[in-house]
Amino acid sequence: MTVIDLSSDTATRPTEAMYDAMVAAKTGDEQKRADPSVNVLCERVAEVLGKESAVFLPSGVMCNNIGILVQTRRGDEVVTHHTSHIANMEGGAPAAVAGVMVRTVDGEYGQFDAETLLRAIRRSPKKNVAQTTLVTVEQTSNRGGGSVWPREAIRDVASVARDHDVAVHMDGARLLNAAVASGLAPADFAGHCDTVWIDFSKGLGCPVGAVLAGPDDLIERAWRWKHRLGGAMRQAGVLAGACLYALDHHVDRLADDHRNAFSLAKALADIPGVQLPLGMPQTNIVFFDISRSGVGSADLADGLARQNVSIGVESAHMLRAVTHLDVSEADTATAADVIRDLLAKRA
Ligand SMILES: *Cc1c(COP(=O)(O)O)cnc(C)c1O
Repeated sequence: MTVIDLSSDTATRPTEAMYDAMVAAKTGDEQKRADPSVNVLCERVAEVLGKESAVFLPSGVMCNNIGILVQTRRGDEVVTHHTSHIANMEGGAPAAVAGVMVRTVDGEYGQFDAETLLRAIRRSPKKNVAQTTLVTVEQTSNRGGGSVWPREAIRDVASVARDHDVAVHMDGARLLNAAVASGLAPADFAGHCDTVWIDFSKGLGCPVGAVLAGPDDLIERAWRWKHRLGGAMRQAGVLAGACLYALDHHVDRLADDHRNAFSLAKALADIPGVQLPLGMPQTNIVFFDISRSGVGSADLADGLARQNVSIGVESAHMLRAVTHLDVSEADTATAADVIRDLLAKRA
């Protein structure tokens, strides 16, 4: 019985070839910086992102935490979009871990412009005003429907930030999706940011791992936080082996995920009662609204689960479907057919 799991691109299982790469990987003591596979991985990611150094971490959330910790002080303000993962999905970590305030801003598709950032920045000499020291940009924007920030938009935001001595951190969980979708190099986006990370456990199909990159001095400071937060590892080469395999074999194929998301969205748009509030997907995430169908999201998700299709419930009438390595074109067609049937029968 095959399950079609559209709930997240974290749902991938390592392929046989990826397992082989993990078994073959050379290992050492990662926290002594003596794991050869992790060292090669960090060098490669730093090069791909156009940064001096990089550090291997267990998760994207830890990359965000450490990116904030090394570029802020307690009581500072971090500007981020109101839909961002940092503001919504990390257990209040900016406050709990870094002791910073989050100032959220608005804009379409999970993005904001330089003007909006300018209005949000506070850099007053008055001692009763919190100081903005960091802005974060999510590429692609998850809650923005996998939208790709145009390079120029990031450049303009970063330029306003620089003018006000505000650092720029990119949550690049899906930066490689943005690069593949736009035909630009990852460094074309990352070059405008001080710190940037990519996730290996999303569309790249690895079991664990993320790499945070930036200038030498910030990555040195990141290492202390990696130890403090329990992110320093031992024979992590088995994980880096999977990541290196993914860099060689799973990047270009992200285009397949984007194509499948597009055809899924097209099929969904034809179903009576279904709307695509964020338009057609640019990458691998499809949000769809079923308020006109008279069916609730949870009921549709339950009906789908009974037919072995898993999907994300975002709100009472909004659902999220994500394509990835373990979802084929036929799977997306099947999922759309089941959704059409369920809505016709009112779930
Ligand atoms: C998944 C995700 C994260 C967190 O990454 P983990 O590796 O799951 O900790 C951060 N930001 C965005 C935009 C994400 O989608």
